[in-house]
Amino acid sequence: MTKYNGLALSPGLELGTLCFLQSPCNWERKRIAPDEIDSELEKLDASLQATRQELLQLKSRLDQNVGGTTAEILDFQILLTKDPYLINPIHRKITIDCKQAGWALEETLEEIRASINNLKDIFFRERFSDFLDLGNRVLQHINECRLCSYWQTAERLIIAARTLLPSQTVDLPEGRVIGFITQRGGVTGHAAILARSMGIPLVSGIYDLFERGLTGDPIILDGYRGAVIHHPSGEQLESYQRVKEILLKRKALEKADSAAPAITLDGLPIHLLANINSDGDVPQVLQMGAEGVGLYRTELHYLHRMEFADEEEQYQNYKKIALQLSGAPFVIRTLDIGGDKLVPGDFGTKEPNPNLGYRAIRISLREPGLFAAQLRAIYRSALYGAVQVLFPMVSSLEQVVAIKKIINEVVGDLQRAGIPCREKIPMGIMIEIPSAAIRIDSFLQEVDFVSVGTNDLIQYTLAVDRGNEVVSELYQPADPAVLHLLAQIGRAAHKAGKEASICGEMAGDPLYTELLLGLGFRRLSMSPAFIEPVKARIRHIDLADAEKFADRLLGCRFADEVQIMLERRIHDILVTNTDL
Ligand code: PEP
Ligand code: MG
Repeated sequence: MTKYNGLALSPGLELGTLCFLQSPCNWERKRIAPDEIDSELEKLDASLQATRQELLQLKSRLDQNVGGTTAEILDFQILLTKDPYLINPIHRKITIDCKQAGWALEETLEEIRASINNLKDIFFRERFSDFLDLGNRVLQHINECRLCSYWQTAERLIIAARTLLPSQTVDLPEGRVIGFITQRGGVTGHAAILARSMGIPLVSGIYDLFERGLTGDPIILDGYRGAVIHHPSGEQLESYQRVKEILLKRKALEKADSAAPAITLDGLPIHLLANINSDGDVPQVLQMGAEGVGLYRTELHYLHRMEFADEEEQYQNYKKIALQLSGAPFVIRTLDIGGDKLVPGDFGTKEPNPNLGYRAIRISLREPGLFAAQLRAIYRSALYGAVQVLFPMVSSLEQVVAIKKIINEVVGDLQRAGIPCREKIPMGIMIEIPSAAIRIDSFLQEVDFVSVGTNDLIQYTLAVDRGNEVVSELYQPADPAVLHLLAQIGRAAHKAGKEASICGEMAGDPLYTELLLGLGFRRLSMSPAFIEPVKARIRHIDLADAEKFADRLLGCRFADEVQIMLERRIHDILVTNTDL
């Protein structure tokens, strides 16, 4: 037995069979005769065509089964199958250097990798996996070979790959893949987004297993704690069975309770909303019983397009969602690009410290055309629903003043031009930078509501990169400093009579639900998949107890102390943390 600890990127607990994803095939790099050039070019074109068809089919399967955001991941690769940036150099290598199509493609990919690696932005570097993934598919067609055949027959597969490529994640035998293990990748990586929306556990930051494991070995994968157990002992298998039964019972209870209201034992209603990334996510929001959308991450809609949408396209998109939500709250966050998120154009790509650099509201305020187009789209779409506008990464009151001035100008322009729009909609800011949390009272005077982005608030309070597996043990939601900031925000909002919600990952983890309620938060926004477990948790909480519990946690000196108390509080989650 060997236990490896890594990063928990998607929750779940599974016992299965290890299966390494292999690279497509090896072949000799050969030159072709000049009279073979035409047929080699035809082979390349046919392989690109076949790949395109395959990706289009995959995308439509995804659209039906998984949801909008994840299907969009393939769009970029579909575009690449016709992109001269990729295809022209391959053609040149075939026609001028007389290289075989596969060789020409591989060399071109190596060149692209070198140019992308020169960029400092993690997100761009992660995008190379899209090129590589596509290249592997095309190579399979060129060389008419198949990936590892093991996974075509075996059951309960736990797929291990150095990096999980986007289309590999979805193009796996349906129903037989139950987990993923990777060496690389953080929470913002595509594989993590996909795995979470597919409900399949994913643990990354695992290295030694790739030297020691063999396809076919038994594995326990704990996507709650980020653990991988290779060749589990009899005791661990028993422990796994026990925990699994508890988890299954809990899931069944959650399902049974899903139509019930989200109220505490003493009758306090809690508002549960959903975080979405595209209009394709809305059906899932309604199905899971969310009260509305608490966070629309508008930037993710454009993630794979490498260009910004214009005002009209944004307006149509927001209007469509507002209509689908039929009057339920719809919080649209303006572009939160930069940092570790992909940006069209050159914003932030060459910065030494992207998370502290040119990003989010800083870009919007310096790009008046871009910002005005989005605000115009939002204020116009507000005629069709309960739209609210939210601004990311605000760090100073000056920024709030500047935002309000721009809103006035934008609305004035629309009115003068006779374009229908709403004059006033609730305006809020994300609290995700300590400077805003510390001076929360002043900020509350300026805005209608605040929404706490705990993902970034933790990152900036503790100075720990949220996507870096090397320092992941320092990324601690339970750190007393984080708790004190949350308490300050919750209490200040209560005193000011303004709404404060939580929309970071903490909101969707039942481990923190009682704490957040005890600190005064009544509105939680999360990935739709987490609505049921959080609702089930709320229905077992008494508010007076929650407040006392939160006070006790605020008295802790160490993050570990807080963590242990949180885990003890919900016995079944404690059990998932047993010594498997
Ligand atoms: C957050 O920071 O908690 C948040 C919700 O925003 P994002 O994850 O998009 O940065
Ligand atoms: Mg954020």
